[in-house]
Amino acid sequence: MKKYNFNAGPSILPREVIENTAKQVLDFNGSGLSLMEISHRSKDFQPVLDEAVALIKELLNVPEGYSVIFLGGGASLQFTQVPCNFLIKKAAYLNTGVWAKKSMKEAKLYGEVVEVATSADANFTYIPKVFDIPTDADYLHVTTNNTIYGTEIRKEIDSPIPLIGDMSSDIFSRPVDVSKYDCIYAGAQKNLAMAGVTVIIVKDEKLGRAPRQIPTMLDYRTHVDKGSMFNTPPVVPIYCALETLRWIKKSGGVEAMDKKAIERAKIIYDEIDRNRLFRGTVKEEDRSLMNICFVMNEDFAELEKPFMEFATQKGMVGIKGHRDVGGFRASCYNAMSIEGAEAFAACMKEFEAKL
Ligand code: PMP
Repeated sequence: MKKYNFNAGPSILPREVIENTAKQVLDFNGSGLSLMEISHRSKDFQPVLDEAVALIKELLNVPEGYSVIFLGGGASLQFTQVPCNFLIKKAAYLNTGVWAKKSMKEAKLYGEVVEVATSADANFTYIPKVFDIPTDADYLHVTTNNTIYGTEIRKEIDSPIPLIGDMSSDIFSRPVDVSKYDCIYAGAQKNLAMAGVTVIIVKDEKLGRAPRQIPTMLDYRTHVDKGSMFNTPPVVPIYCALETLRWIKKSGGVEAMDKKAIERAKIIYDEIDRNRLFRGTVKEEDRSLMNICFVMNEDFAELEKPFMEFATQKGMVGIKGHRDVGGFRASCYNAMSIEGAEAFAACMKEFEAKL
């Protein structure tokens, strides 16, 4: 039976990306060696890294004066690395849930942190819109897509100070105005690759200003200067990212991803709104196109388990909601087809019809 992968991350990747990466794992560029066995400094790997960086710049229209680097440590390391490099005195954070809170906790190690707004009062089911941004703060940190709650900031916040964005779960799903950001970071394991690598886009002129000694490995300049080769980079995840970037380009770029995401999410949200058994958990205007969260309507609470079993039988994978929200979460990253969304909506409809 066909499986539809709605996992929140690690998550669905295009089949051809997996196949092409698997081929290189068995025999890298006809060398007779596995991609796992070669030196990251070998003449064949440098072009992989160079092409991946070039494609990121091209796809996101990264302006001059920014560097793209690949690091280990996940997005979680960026919660520390960002303030260590960019927080001079004071930083502003928009608190939209678990990941934002974790990033604020780390920033407090380096200076004053201002929480400009929070949606904690409603379990992070909306994006706060009206708040003051202190103009003397060094940056405003935002989590553009909140993987757990299914909220998304799809348009750059109008901010008098530079933005820093955790785009772990929506990078490459839509165009972004990179010029508004001093830094963008994303763990790869949603829209980009297997887990194991983090992509970071930094504005060069903002580096080296923080009034502290930065450990060598935490200093972005180390990795910018050495082209992500200061230490051994995660070669296979970077190769996998390259294959995904090629696939995004071939599929029409982030504009096409955006169009597809809108269409795909509409299919599922429309069914949630129509179906008497379910209700979405997020304020409509803030609904994420990547993580679609919903629960059973009160009158049908006892049907949660039966729906889970029914959907599983129909090939739907990874749809259990995060424990902080409950219910269901259908994550629809770039590689999820329109047909997958249709199959999911049909499954909800069929379950309702069975009652
Ligand atoms: N930020 C967001 C928005 C996430 O969804 C996640 C992981 N799900 C993280 C940060 C943490 O990423 P990592 O596990 O790569 O450290």
